[in-house]
Amino acid sequence: SQAREVLRVDAIDAGYGQSQVLFGMHLAIREGETATLLGRNGAGKTTTVRAILGLTPPHKGSIHFNGRRVDAWPTDRIARLGVALVPEGRQIFPNLSVTENLVAFAANRRGAKGPWNLERVHALFPRLKERARNMGNQLSGGEQQMLAIGRALMTNPALLILDEVTEGLSPLIREEIWTCLRQLRAEGQTALVIDKYVERLLSLADHHTVVEKGRVVWAGSSAQLREAPDIWRFYVGV
Ligand code: ATP
Repeated sequence: SQAREVLRVDAIDAGYGQSQVLFGMHLAIREGETATLLGRNGAGKTTTVRAILGLTPPHKGSIHFNGRRVDAWPTDRIARLGVALVPEGRQIFPNLSVTENLVAFAANRRGAKGPWNLERVHALFPRLKERARNMGNQLSGGEQQMLAIGRALMTNPALLILDEVTEGLSPLIREEIWTCLRQLRAEGQTALVIDKYVERLLSLADHHTVVEKGRVVWAGSSAQLREAPDIWRFYVGV
Protein backbone atom coordinates (compact mmCIF):
# COMPACT_ATOMS: atom_id res chain seq x y z
CA SER A 1 0.00 0.00 0.00
CA GLN A 2 1.37 3.37 -1.00
CA ALA A 3 1.29 6.45 1.20
CA ARG A 4 -1.33 9.01 0.29
CA GLU A 5 -0.57 11.98 -1.89
CA VAL A 6 0.14 15.21 -0.06
CA LEU A 7 0.64 17.31 -3.19
CA ARG A 8 -0.60 16.83 -6.72
CA VAL A 9 0.27 19.37 -9.41
CA ASP A 10 -1.60 18.51 -12.58
CA ALA A 11 -0.88 19.97 -16.02
CA ILE A 12 -0.40 23.56 -14.93
CA ASP A 13 0.43 26.51 -17.15
CA ALA A 14 1.80 29.56 -15.39
CA GLY A 15 3.98 32.58 -16.06
CA TYR A 16 4.56 36.26 -15.58
CA GLY A 17 2.39 38.66 -17.60
CA GLN A 18 2.70 37.76 -21.27
CA SER A 19 5.58 35.33 -20.75
CA GLN A 20 4.50 31.75 -20.12
CA VAL A 21 7.04 29.75 -18.08
CA LEU A 22 5.27 26.47 -17.21
CA PHE A 23 3.65 24.29 -19.88
CA GLY A 24 1.62 21.41 -18.48
CA MET A 25 3.93 21.08 -15.47
CA HIS A 26 3.08 18.17 -13.16
CA LEU A 27 4.35 16.37 -10.10
CA ALA A 28 3.07 14.44 -7.10
CA ILE A 29 4.53 13.97 -3.62
CA ARG A 30 3.46 11.23 -1.24
CA GLU A 31 3.39 11.50 2.53
CA GLY A 32 6.84 11.03 4.08
CA GLU A 33 8.60 11.37 0.75
CA THR A 34 11.46 13.71 -0.08
CA ALA A 35 11.10 14.82 -3.68
CA THR A 36 13.23 17.11 -5.83
CA LEU A 37 12.87 19.41 -8.79
CA LEU A 38 15.95 19.26 -11.00
CA GLY A 39 16.89 21.30 -14.04
CA ARG A 40 19.10 24.05 -15.30
CA ASN A 41 18.81 27.72 -14.42
CA GLY A 42 15.57 29.17 -15.71
CA ALA A 43 13.92 25.78 -16.24
CA GLY A 44 10.92 26.78 -14.11
CA LYS A 45 11.65 25.25 -10.69
CA THR A 46 11.03 28.39 -8.66
CA THR A 47 7.97 29.24 -10.74
CA THR A 48 6.56 25.79 -9.91
CA VAL A 49 7.12 26.49 -6.22
CA ARG A 50 5.47 29.90 -6.59
CA ALA A 51 2.48 28.27 -8.28
CA ILE A 52 2.12 25.73 -5.45
CA LEU A 53 2.08 28.58 -2.93
CA GLY A 54 -0.36 30.72 -4.89
CA LEU A 55 2.26 33.41 -5.50
CA THR A 56 2.13 32.87 -9.26
CA PRO A 57 -1.27 31.24 -9.68
CA PRO A 58 -1.61 28.87 -12.63
CA HIS A 59 -4.01 29.86 -15.39
CA LYS A 60 -4.55 26.25 -16.42
CA GLY A 61 -4.47 22.87 -14.67
CA SER A 62 -4.97 22.14 -10.99
CA ILE A 63 -3.12 21.82 -7.69
CA HIS A 64 -4.42 19.59 -4.91
CA PHE A 65 -3.08 19.62 -1.37
CA ASN A 66 -4.17 16.77 0.87
CA GLY A 67 -7.06 16.18 -1.51
CA ARG A 68 -8.23 19.79 -1.59
CA ARG A 69 -8.05 21.86 -4.72
CA VAL A 70 -6.04 24.98 -3.81
CA ASP A 71 -4.88 26.55 -7.07
CA ALA A 72 -7.29 29.49 -6.80
CA TRP A 73 -6.54 30.11 -3.13
CA PRO A 74 -4.57 33.06 -1.74
CA THR A 75 -1.10 32.29 -0.39
CA ASP A 76 -1.93 32.77 3.30
CA ARG A 77 -4.76 30.25 3.09
CA ILE A 78 -2.49 27.69 1.36
CA ALA A 79 0.18 28.28 4.00
CA ARG A 80 -2.35 27.66 6.77
CA LEU A 81 -3.13 24.27 5.24
CA GLY A 82 0.47 23.35 6.04
CA VAL A 83 2.74 24.33 3.16
CA ALA A 84 5.91 26.03 4.41
CA LEU A 85 8.56 27.59 2.20
CA VAL A 86 12.25 28.12 2.90
CA PRO A 87 12.74 30.63 0.11
CA GLU A 88 15.75 31.32 -2.05
CA GLY A 89 17.54 34.11 -0.18
CA ARG A 90 16.03 33.08 3.19
CA GLN A 91 14.12 36.30 3.91
CA ILE A 92 14.39 36.22 7.67
CA PHE A 93 13.31 39.29 9.65
CA PRO A 94 16.52 41.35 10.13
CA ASN A 95 15.26 43.34 13.12
CA LEU A 96 13.87 40.43 15.12
CA SER A 97 16.00 38.16 17.27
CA VAL A 98 16.54 34.52 16.38
CA THR A 99 13.93 33.44 18.90
CA GLU A 100 11.48 36.11 17.77
CA ASN A 101 11.90 34.94 14.17
CA LEU A 102 11.08 31.39 15.24
CA VAL A 103 8.10 32.29 17.39
CA ALA A 104 6.64 34.77 14.89
CA PHE A 105 6.14 31.95 12.41
CA ALA A 106 4.75 29.43 14.86
CA ALA A 107 1.85 31.82 15.45
CA ASN A 108 0.85 31.39 11.80
CA ARG A 109 -0.50 27.93 12.41
CA ARG A 110 -1.60 28.00 15.99
CA GLY A 111 -4.05 25.16 15.55
CA ALA A 112 -1.54 22.81 13.92
CA LYS A 113 -0.63 19.68 15.78
CA GLY A 114 2.92 18.50 15.60
CA PRO A 115 6.17 17.96 17.35
CA TRP A 116 7.96 21.20 16.55
CA ASN A 117 8.69 23.79 19.19
CA LEU A 118 11.63 26.00 20.17
CA GLU A 119 13.27 23.17 22.10
CA ARG A 120 13.25 20.76 19.17
CA VAL A 121 14.51 23.38 16.73
CA HIS A 122 17.36 24.07 19.17
CA ALA A 123 18.14 20.36 19.28
CA LEU A 124 18.25 20.21 15.48
CA PHE A 125 20.35 23.39 15.21
CA PRO A 126 22.25 24.01 18.47
CA ARG A 127 23.69 27.13 16.84
CA LEU A 128 20.27 28.78 16.98
CA LYS A 129 20.19 28.31 20.73
CA GLU A 130 23.61 29.92 21.11
CA ARG A 131 22.46 32.81 18.90
CA ALA A 132 18.97 33.09 20.41
CA ARG A 133 19.28 36.81 21.21
CA ASN A 134 21.15 37.83 18.07
CA MET A 135 19.23 39.89 15.55
CA GLY A 136 18.46 38.33 12.18
CA ASN A 137 20.92 40.69 10.50
CA GLN A 138 23.76 39.61 12.81
CA LEU A 139 23.84 36.03 11.56
CA SER A 140 26.15 34.29 9.10
CA GLY A 141 24.64 32.91 5.90
CA GLY A 142 24.60 29.42 7.34
CA GLU A 143 22.92 30.56 10.55
CA GLN A 144 20.33 32.45 8.51
CA GLN A 145 19.52 29.32 6.55
CA MET A 146 19.23 27.25 9.74
CA LEU A 147 16.88 29.92 11.06
CA ALA A 148 14.84 29.87 7.85
CA ILE A 149 14.48 26.08 8.11
CA GLY A 150 13.73 26.20 11.84
CA ARG A 151 11.16 28.91 11.28
CA ALA A 152 9.39 26.82 8.62
CA LEU A 153 9.40 23.75 10.90
CA MET A 154 7.80 25.76 13.71
CA THR A 155 4.60 25.75 11.65
CA ASN A 156 4.60 21.91 11.69
CA PRO A 157 4.29 21.84 7.92
CA ALA A 158 2.63 18.96 6.12
CA LEU A 159 4.90 19.89 3.21
CA LEU A 160 8.24 21.65 3.59
CA ILE A 161 9.56 23.29 0.42
CA LEU A 162 13.22 24.32 0.25
CA ASP A 163 14.38 26.36 -2.75
CA GLU A 164 18.14 26.45 -3.45
CA VAL A 165 18.66 25.13 0.04
CA THR A 166 22.48 25.28 0.18
CA GLU A 167 23.02 28.22 -2.18
CA GLY A 168 25.86 30.49 -1.12
CA LEU A 169 26.89 28.36 1.86
CA SER A 170 30.35 27.04 2.68
CA PRO A 171 31.04 23.31 2.17
CA LEU A 172 30.98 22.68 5.91
CA ILE A 173 27.62 24.39 6.43
CA ARG A 174 26.21 22.68 3.35
CA GLU A 175 26.96 19.32 4.98
CA GLU A 176 25.14 20.44 8.14
CA ILE A 177 22.11 21.30 6.03
CA TRP A 178 22.19 17.91 4.25
CA THR A 179 22.46 16.16 7.61
CA CYS A 180 19.45 18.11 8.83
CA LEU A 181 17.45 17.16 5.73
CA ARG A 182 18.35 13.48 6.13
CA GLN A 183 17.20 13.66 9.73
CA LEU A 184 13.91 15.28 8.75
CA ARG A 185 13.34 12.59 6.13
CA ALA A 186 14.02 9.88 8.71
CA GLU A 187 11.41 11.50 10.93
CA GLY A 188 8.84 11.32 8.15
CA GLN A 189 8.76 14.98 7.13
CA THR A 190 7.37 15.38 3.60
CA ALA A 191 9.62 17.69 1.59
CA LEU A 192 10.30 19.18 -1.82
CA VAL A 193 13.93 20.20 -2.27
CA ILE A 194 15.63 22.26 -4.95
CA ASP A 195 19.40 22.48 -5.11
CA LYS A 196 22.21 22.25 -7.59
CA TYR A 197 24.16 19.57 -5.70
CA VAL A 198 22.51 16.70 -7.52
CA GLU A 199 24.77 14.01 -6.02
CA ARG A 200 23.57 14.98 -2.55
CA LEU A 201 19.95 15.04 -3.70
CA LEU A 202 20.34 11.55 -5.20
CA SER A 203 21.32 10.10 -1.85
CA LEU A 204 18.72 12.15 0.06
CA ALA A 205 15.56 11.98 -2.01
CA ASP A 206 13.04 9.32 -3.04
CA HIS A 207 11.76 10.87 -6.22
CA HIS A 208 12.99 13.36 -8.81
CA THR A 209 11.27 15.47 -11.43
CA VAL A 210 13.50 16.92 -14.13
CA VAL A 211 12.25 20.16 -15.68
CA GLU A 212 13.34 21.82 -18.90
CA LYS A 213 11.69 24.91 -20.41
CA GLY A 214 8.73 24.57 -18.08
CA ARG A 215 7.99 20.95 -18.95
CA VAL A 216 8.67 17.65 -17.22
CA VAL A 217 11.23 15.78 -19.30
CA TRP A 218 11.84 12.92 -16.88
CA ALA A 219 10.66 11.64 -13.50
CA GLY A 220 11.74 8.69 -11.39
CA SER A 221 13.70 7.33 -8.46
CA SER A 222 17.35 7.98 -7.60
CA ALA A 223 18.31 4.51 -8.85
CA GLN A 224 16.54 5.19 -12.13
CA LEU A 225 18.20 8.59 -12.49
CA ARG A 226 21.65 7.10 -11.95
CA GLU A 227 20.92 4.80 -14.89
CA ALA A 228 19.69 7.56 -17.19
CA PRO A 229 22.96 9.09 -18.47
CA ASP A 230 21.25 11.03 -21.26
CA ILE A 231 18.93 12.78 -18.87
CA TRP A 232 21.86 13.40 -16.61
CA ARG A 233 24.00 14.84 -19.39
CA PHE A 234 21.40 17.02 -21.08
CA TYR A 235 19.26 18.36 -18.27
CA VAL A 236 20.93 17.87 -14.95
CA GLY A 237 24.43 18.72 -16.07
CA VAL A 238 27.75 19.15 -14.31
P1 ATP B 1 16.93 29.34 -11.23
O1 ATP B 1 17.75 28.19 -10.78
O2 ATP B 1 17.67 30.28 -12.12
O3 ATP B 1 16.14 30.02 -10.15
P2 ATP B 1 14.44 28.11 -12.02
O4 ATP B 1 14.39 26.76 -12.63
O5 ATP B 1 14.01 28.26 -10.63
O6 ATP B 1 15.87 28.69 -12.24
P3 ATP B 1 12.51 30.11 -12.60
O7 ATP B 1 13.03 31.04 -11.58
O8 ATP B 1 11.21 29.46 -12.38
O9 ATP B 1 13.58 29.03 -12.97
O10 ATP B 1 12.45 30.93 -13.97
C1 ATP B 1 11.86 30.41 -15.15
C2 ATP B 1 11.74 31.52 -16.19
O11 ATP B 1 10.86 32.53 -15.70
C3 ATP B 1 13.04 32.22 -16.50
O12 ATP B 1 13.10 32.45 -17.89
C4 ATP B 1 12.94 33.54 -15.77
O13 ATP B 1 13.64 34.54 -16.42
C5 ATP B 1 11.45 33.81 -15.76
N1 ATP B 1 11.03 34.57 -14.58
C6 ATP B 1 11.24 34.23 -13.29
N2 ATP B 1 10.71 35.12 -12.45
C7 ATP B 1 10.15 36.08 -13.21
C8 ATP B 1 9.44 37.29 -12.95
N3 ATP B 1 9.19 37.69 -11.71
N4 ATP B 1 9.02 38.01 -14.01
C9 ATP B 1 9.25 37.61 -15.27
N5 ATP B 1 9.92 36.48 -15.60
C10 ATP B 1 10.37 35.73 -14.59
